[in-house]
Parts: sequence; structure tokens; C-alpha cells
Amino acid sequence: MLNALQPRIIAIIAFLAVVAGVSMTVGWFGYLSALDQLRQRGQSDLALASDRLTGEFGRYRELAVLMADHPVVAAKAAGDDADVTALLRRITDKTGSLDVLVVARSGIELASASGSGAQNHQRQPYFERALDGALGHYHLLHDRYGQRTFLFAAPIFSPEGPVNGAVIVVVDVDAVEALWRGDRPTVFFTDELGVSFISNRSELVFMVRESSRAIHTASAEFAPDILKPFLEYEALDRRGMQLWSVQGQRYVPRTALHLSLPLPVIQMTGEALLDVAPAKLIARLQAGVTAAICLAFGALLFLATERRRTLAQANVKLESAVHSRTAELSDINEELRHEVVERIATEAQLKKAQSDLVQAGKLSALGQMSAGISHELNQPLMAIRSYAENAETFLERGNVDVAGQNLGRITELARRMGRIIRNLRAFSKQENHGMTDVDLCAVVEAVIEISHSRAQSEGVGLIWSPPEGALMVRGGEVRLQQVVLNLLSNAMDAMTGQDNAKEVEITVERNGTRVDLGVCDSGPGLVEPDRIFDPFYSTKQLTPDGQGHDGMGLGLSISYGLVQSFGGDITGHNRETGGAVFTMTLDAAVVEEDAA
Ligand code: ADP
Repeated sequence: MLNALQPRIIAIIAFLAVVAGVSMTVGWFGYLSALDQLRQRGQSDLALASDRLTGEFGRYRELAVLMADHPVVAAKAAGDDADVTALLRRITDKTGSLDVLVVARSGIELASASGSGAQNHQRQPYFERALDGALGHYHLLHDRYGQRTFLFAAPIFSPEGPVNGAVIVVVDVDAVEALWRGDRPTVFFTDELGVSFISNRSELVFMVRESSRAIHTASAEFAPDILKPFLEYEALDRRGMQLWSVQGQRYVPRTALHLSLPLPVIQMTGEALLDVAPAKLIARLQAGVTAAICLAFGALLFLATERRRTLAQANVKLESAVHSRTAELSDINEELRHEVVERIATEAQLKKAQSDLVQAGKLSALGQMSAGISHELNQPLMAIRSYAENAETFLERGNVDVAGQNLGRITELARRMGRIIRNLRAFSKQENHGMTDVDLCAVVEAVIEISHSRAQSEGVGLIWSPPEGALMVRGGEVRLQQVVLNLLSNAMDAMTGQDNAKEVEITVERNGTRVDLGVCDSGPGLVEPDRIFDPFYSTKQLTPDGQGHDGMGLGLSISYGLVQSFGGDITGHNRETGGAVFTMTLDAAVVEEDAA
């Protein structure tokens, strides 16, 4: 059993391994493709965020340039005593900038919208650049405003050409960030020193990369205590894409695709961290679906194979069952053939035994009747002798008439003797088994003739009123005689030694296509009517005084067989008025007038 299961278990394990391999491969490629899509989307998101930032800053940059051209501001920078504070405040309010400053060439602040603590901007990089006639910009955590700021410094040119001073627009970075705080993806902008200065996640602001910390500290632009170490992450390369596995951050995805975009306009680099969880989910789904399809397919395949295997096994069983059954049937057939042969032989033996028995029965009946027959023949013989002697005497006396009468009687008696002898010869003859049309009345009369002397000697009255004309039936003459003789002999046997009147009535009657023959007696009747046709059933015994006959119990069973062979029937039962009645029914012969 286990050995039969082993290959299947190995096949299932191998199949599962293949399914795992295929679904992992599908999942991997799905993951890479999802990452690629994520990268494309992330790049456009990052570009969008960068554009928004630079666009927002661009407004302030233009404001600085425009303000530098303002005549009042230019006059102020040229040393005019005019009050520009009100103008600067209006501008600040309208543009949403944090502050607008007018700075003299010396770096001294001439006016500001906020009016708070004047500051010397000398040697500041943005101011230096403005004095050089270019647009300077810078970002810093301003002590004066207490927050992150982005500065644009535009040079104020004198009508003669040289730079008289600068207009500095201070941008509130928090206000710019407020527009996209919390948006996806996570974005932060780092300066060239590696400090993340702007982000849509406030937790990521002021992170500094380890490698650049020393430089940054040296520059002393930010107080070291507000700086934070950069995100702890492990970078992985996936087909040119950088994946960061980030530790211990609540606001940053655990595994993120890192994208960066340089922004030379503001000298920063935009960086985005995109959550790869959806890509992983897609990949897992694809792998799961592939595995499910493969497993479903495998299960169907497995079921089909199992079904085929079961069918094949059932087939083998069936074939072997059919084989063994066929062998059994062949054996039975062979036995049957033997039995048929044996039966045919037995049947032949039985037929022979039957015909021997029939013959024996006839001879036994003749034996029983021998005394009666010899009496029957002796009587006319004696009469013939007397008639012959008397005829001789009458002839001597010349009485020819009486002698002639005697001779006539002699002829009649001789005819009668001849008839008796013919009947006996016919009865003792062995008849072949065919069937002919037989006159049932003639059969009865022949039997009466044979039994006449016995009936007479035993005082049995034979009642026989034949119908007019012949009554033809299908059968064998001698065999029918035997049956009728047997019925008559049994009736006379039954009445042996009986005191009351001994009578046997024989009747024949046509009933449609059948002819009934009845033999009824005034004897004691049947002891066991159900058994009378059983072979060897006999109640006959020789009485101690030598009266009666010893029975073989075959007469009726032979008669039954003979009548059945003619297609007829024989029954026997007791009469209500006493005595037994036997009825033999035979097919009527189809005589010409019937046919007509
Ligand atoms: P057997 O004459 O040798 O006994 P049968 O087969 O001819 O054998 O008869 C079987 C038995 O049927 C008889 O022994 C007898 O008991 C019974 N039997 C047959 N005919 C009569 C009858 N007419 N009256 C009473 N009994 C009969």
C-alpha cells in the first residue's frame, strides 16, 4: 500500500515544488514590473513636488527682482531718506512673504517690513552674490524670525551702473510646506551640504547625512543641536532602482523606493521615498493567483489521473472477475454437457426400462388372467366338442337340420375363441412408441373381453354402455388397452373379498376436443389418493388365505406415463357415495367430419 502511494507522494511534492518555483518567479517579475511602474509614477510625483516648490519660490524671486527696480527702494539704497517701511509692509502682506529688506551696499539694513532687529548682511553669500550683480539665494534657520527661511537677494543698480545695495525677500518655508504637508509620496529637499531643509514630513527636516556633518558644522549655518542623524537605512539595488529598508521611522515606509532629482535653480536635491508595499502586494497577489491556478490545474490533473487509475484498477478487477467467471461457466458448461450426455443415456435406459416394465406389466396381467383365459378358451372348446359329438349323432340319425344348427354353433364358438386369442396376441405384442387414431370403445371392449371370465368368476358386474359409433382418440391401441386393463384390474382387486355388490362401470364421453373415460367401482376407495401414482406405492398384499394379489406399485405410475405421452391426463379420487373413480382424458382424433 505504502509502496503504491510513494510515487504519488513524490509526484505531488515535485509538483508543489514546481508550483512554488513558478509562482515565485511570477511574483518576482511582477514585483520588478510593479517597482518600475512605481518608479515612473514616483518620478512624476517628485517632479511635480519640485515644480511646485520652485514655482512657489519663483514668485518670491521675481518679487525681489521687481522690488529692486522700485524707484523708492532704489532711492533708499542710493542714500535717500525716504521711508519705505510702509511700502515694504504692504508688499509683504500682499505677497505672503515673511519679510522684505532693503540693504545698503555696506551690508547695513536700511529698512525692513518687520522692522525687527537690524542685521548686517556683509559677507553673507547671498548678499555677496547680489553685490556681484547676480540674484543670490540662501536658506537658513533664522534667529531673527525663529524659523526656517529662504532668502532671495536682488541687486539694486544705481542709474550709473554699480550696485547700490540689495532687496532681500525672506520666504516663510513653513508656509510653503503647509500647502503639501502629509501628501504622498514622502518628499524632502536637501541642500548641497546634505541637510534636509524642506519636506512634506516635518519629522524629516534637519536630518544630516553622516558624511557631510563635519562640513556642515564647520559652516556653522545651523546650530548643531537642531540637526538630526539621517534615516537609518539599508540600500538594495533592484535593476538600477534603489530600495531603502528604513528602520524605526513611523512616517516613512519601512521599505521604500528612493528617487532623487537635482534642482540647480535652488541648489537643492529633491528626494522621494515611495512605499513599495503596494508593489509587494501586487507581486504577492500575482504569485498567489498563479499558484492557485497551477494548484487548481494540478488538482484537476490529479483527479483525472486518479479517476483513470481507479477505472483501470476496476477494469483489471472486472476482467479478472470475468475471466474467472468465464472459466467457471466453461467448467459448468462442460459439466452440463456431461450431464446432458448422461441424461440422454439415462433417458434411453429409462425408456427401455419403461417399455420393459410395460411389457412386464402386460405379461403380469396376462399371468394374473391366465386361469380365467384358459377357462374362457376351455369352455367354448368343451361346447364345440359336445356340439360336434351331437352333430355326429344327429347326422347318423339323418337329422341334418339339427346337425347343421350344431355346426353353426361350433363355427360361432370357434370365431369367439379366435377373437380372444387375437386380443391376447395383440395385447402381449410390444407396440412402437408412435401415436395413431384409436377407437376408445374398441379398446374398452377388448379389455372387457379379456377380463370377462375374471369378472364372472369373482362375481363382478361390468357396466358398459358404449355410445353409438366409434369414439376416436389419439394414442396407441395396445398401450391404451394396458391402461384400461390396469384400471379395471385395480377396481376388481380392490373389491376382492367384499360382501356387498361388486360393480365396475366404464363410461366414455366426448367433451369438445377431449374424450373422457371413467372407471368407477363400488369398492372401499383409495387409502392415500395423493400417492397412488407414485412408483412402488401399493397397498396390495396376499391375504393369509391366499386370496388377493401381491402388488408391485407400478401399474398406475406406468399408466400415468403412457397417458402423459399421449398428451392426456389421468386422475383418481374417491366418490362421495363410496368407491374410487379414475378418469382418463385424451385428445379426440380429428376425423374427417370434424375437420369438415
Ligand atoms: P398395484 O396394483 O401393484 O398395487 P397400482 O399402481 O396399480 O399398483 O396401484 C397402486 C395402489 O392404488 C394400489 O395398491 C391401491 O392401494 C390403490 N388403488 C388403485 N386402484 C384402486 C381402486 N379402484 N380402489 C382402491 N384402491 C386402488
